[in-house]
Amino acid sequence: MIKIEHLVKNYGANCAVDDISFEVNDGEIVGFLGPNGAGKSTTMNILTGYLSSTAGKATISGIDILSDPLGAKKLIGYLPEQPPLYLDMTVEEYLNFNYELKGCKLDREKHLGEICDVVKIRDVYKRVIRNLSKGYRQRVGIAQALIGNPKVIIFDEPTVGLDPKQIIEIRNLIRNLGREHTVILSTHILQEVQAVCDRIIIINKGKIVADERTENISRVVENNRRFNAKICGPQREILAMLRAKPGIVYAEVLAERDGDAYTYTIESDYGVDIRKNLFYTLAEKGWALIGLEALGMSLEDIFISVVDKTDTSKAVRDADKRRSTKQKTRLESALASDLVGDAEKRRKEAADDIVEEDE
Ligand code: ADP
Repeated sequence: MIKIEHLVKNYGANCAVDDISFEVNDGEIVGFLGPNGAGKSTTMNILTGYLSSTAGKATISGIDILSDPLGAKKLIGYLPEQPPLYLDMTVEEYLNFNYELKGCKLDREKHLGEICDVVKIRDVYKRVIRNLSKGYRQRVGIAQALIGNPKVIIFDEPTVGLDPKQIIEIRNLIRNLGREHTVILSTHILQEVQAVCDRIIIINKGKIVADERTENISRVVENNRRFNAKICGPQREILAMLRAKPGIVYAEVLAERDGDAYTYTIESDYGVDIRKNLFYTLAEKGWALIGLEALGMSLEDIFISVVDKTDTSKAVRDADKRRSTKQKTRLESALASDLVGDAEKRRKEAADDIVEEDE
């Protein structure tokens, strides 16, 4: 249904999208995930006909977005990061305005009524958009994208600026839309794709670094192993041994103690299964291994691993553990500050909304 082939977009010397190809099938909800500046919006904007590409091809149901932009746009509903709302209009005026703008031929009253039911905005239909909360405004933006019953709906960062309750509502709404539409969702929020999408495409520095079904995403980091090992013996010596051991890229000791045993979080290098080797080393030293627990990888871990791996593929393999740990920490703090920034923004906007609603 959606086919992107060897898409490239250069801004002067800066390559924002670097030869990416992927397909999205009918009825799929695909998450387009990547850090800020990865090239998500640029790709979405090319796909929606808002930007031209430097090279490559994008088709929707076989219609080329460059050679037949109007034909392709009829198949797409788009919610940009900033919903294109006219704040002085009522919801009714705004949706009717968009209905005409799109040249929609469906029965107006019935169609707009159905959309209002789907996105649950009937109760604010006669209200001026300026006076609505951020969550309601986002729903009105989604309603606009649904006019004309497009096959494909594209959302760019749909929950940025919403409070946690609104986020859950909008995510549920997107999931429901996925039953009848093909959905592409661009986001830098990892939990969002996990909660909503059937498939995840991870993009970094303009390149696709992973493309997997959500439940299979851990496969892209094959053999990247993390576990907690409970070991009896001298804490400092054990930690020093773990950190110096070839094949281990990260080792840390947890605070709690169980008799003379401490728990160590260990991460082995890509492609290395360190468990047997570790067992024999510990046995030789007389340090008893009394517990070994595999740690599941969260989407954050996977994301960091994938981005980390593609950034420095060869170097990471050869790097010593200190360097690898530093890289991981740097990426983790960049991601964490993104998430914290998001949460703060959301809280502030939610507080503003409450003031607005009170007024
Ligand atoms: P994302 O949506 O993943 O945050 P973008 O697609 O907005 O990423 O940006 C990808 C890269 O292209 C970034 O390095 C950004 O600085 C650059 N970029 C985006 N828009 C422009 C523009 N209009 N002119 C020059 N560079 C741009």
